[in-house]
Amino acid sequence: MRYHFSLPAVLSLAAIACLGCQPQSERNSAIAFANGPEPTTPIVPNPEVAELGAVKPLRSEPFPVDSSSVEPTSAAFDSSETRFDTGSAAEDATVPPDMRQTHEDLDATLWMQTSAEYVASCRQAFRTAEEQLLTAINVPSWSADLIQQSELAGHPPEATPLPTAVILDIDETVLNNSPYQARLIQQDGGFQLNSWHEWVEEAAAEAVPGALEFLEAAEDAGVTVFFVTNRQNSVENATRRNLESLGLSKRDAPDRILSKQERDEWTSDKSSRRAHIAKRYRILLLIGDDLNDFVSIGNKPTAQARRELAVEHADLWGVKWIQLPNASYGGWERSLYDWNDAAEDALKLRKKYEALSDGRSE
Ligand SMILES: [Mg+2]
Repeated sequence: MRYHFSLPAVLSLAAIACLGCQPQSERNSAIAFANGPEPTTPIVPNPEVAELGAVKPLRSEPFPVDSSSVEPTSAAFDSSETRFDTGSAAEDATVPPDMRQTHEDLDATLWMQTSAEYVASCRQAFRTAEEQLLTAINVPSWSADLIQQSELAGHPPEATPLPTAVILDIDETVLNNSPYQARLIQQDGGFQLNSWHEWVEEAAAEAVPGALEFLEAAEDAGVTVFFVTNRQNSVENATRRNLESLGLSKRDAPDRILSKQERDEWTSDKSSRRAHIAKRYRILLLIGDDLNDFVSIGNKPTAQARRELAVEHADLWGVKWIQLPNASYGGWERSLYDWNDAAEDALKLRKKYEALSDGRSE
């Protein structure tokens, strides 16, 4: 068996760092393009881990575990007993003999594929969305788009008789791509645009729990549904096929998928597409899994800046903005390594470990 899970979570994390599995950072970069600005340089696969199962010598990795402070038989993570040391002195640390090989995306993918909590979180989000939809329809000044919201606020309700719409992201919002992530884990690999597009062309993603019920409710309420996705326009037909196979889009419906670069001005920043829709519709809700699905995040914001944006718009969450869970990838992860998608995996991992907070602030 290649993977075992009886060790503490920290050992799994340490194994990621120490054993040199190809992390999902590269995969993240391309899926995550979907949620942010394009990287300035192409992603280069790490040749050292291109071969399946390739394992680097443990001491060559930057994040050895100080085994003297790890309790290998502990069944639970105990931060008081465990430390990661990124300093040079730790490079001499020994590695517990039963360290397991694992993958950076293992827990997040398993959570999405197996947990009751994922199902509950998604259904909770879409239940909230449905309730808010019915409220929003009857409030003429209501818009979930920040620019349209300010425009409507300056006009009397009778001057804004726009039909209503909702905007949803696609990946990890209405389509669950965790099988693709699972394949990467099984293959000990990372994201590649080719393999991603092969997965998309299969049109085999399943619906995110609660999405179908919400979309049916929107249709029943006479609200037009738009999908604003950072999937490439080249795979829009496959995307439509997948949505239609799940009943998430009607087969004879007009094209309501707005892909990245479908028009020149439709960049990774989704605000131009929201503005396009806002010309003809009042946007009742924005539904997505990434901050970029709700607001323009600017150029390569730090994790701190992203959190501050979330706080700045605190009144909108659960009211006009509905957030789906995605602990696997997204702008949150890219911001940890400064959106430097082309960086070496070791550097990305170092940045992530540096971002950990163990509650022992100096
Ligand atoms: Mg998404």
